[in-house]
Order: sequence, then structure tokens, then C-alpha cells
Amino acid sequence: MQRKLLDILACPVDKQSPLQLREFESKGEVVVSGVLVCTKCNRYYPITDEIPVMLPDSLRSMKEDLAFLARWKDGLPQDVVYGGKPWSLGSGTGEAKEKVTQ
Ligand SMILES: [Zn+2]
Repeated sequence: MQRKLLDILACPVDKQSPLQLREFESKGEVVVSGVLVCTKCNRYYPITDEIPVMLPDSLRSMKEDLAFLARWKDGLPQDVVYGGKPWSLGSGTGEAKEKVTQ
């Protein structure tokens, strides 16, 4: 994702803009992996392989989103990892509960 795209991207749910960008890997002006966070509804949008995934909740994959959070949780804000929408590692899924009790 070109970093300057941040100026035009908005949360698909509430149109909040700009979104908060957190970068994990980047090449020059291109964000390779990272996350966009909507400060209004606390939704997060993964950036993977340079592509920001800006989908409404109904088209998102909980499994993929939770895997993303688990992979990057050390670099993500805690309120996104455990309280982000539409789901988070604190959502009470079986997988998340197992991790908490280990
Ligand atoms: Zn939002």
C-alpha cells in the first residue's frame, strides 16, 4: 500500500478518516505489512503483501483476522488485539480461550 493512500482511505463502516496506520514492514513509500485502525469504532484492517483489506464485517474471515492478530500482537495496540472489532483475541472464541488458559 502506498503510504499516501492513507489520505483517502476511510473506514467502510462509519467513514472515519484518516485511519491510524501502524507499519510492521515497509519498502520506501510502500507499506508491505501493517494495520489500519479506525479510532472511531476500533475496527482494524490488516495490510498483507502490500494490500490493505478494507472489507465490511460480513465479508471478513474471522479465522484469518485472528491469525493476523496472533502473528502481530506484539506490534499492535493492546486495545486492538484484545478489544478490536469485529473480533479480537479477547472475543471468547475457543482458540482465544485456549491461549488464555495455557
Ligand atoms: Zn470505523
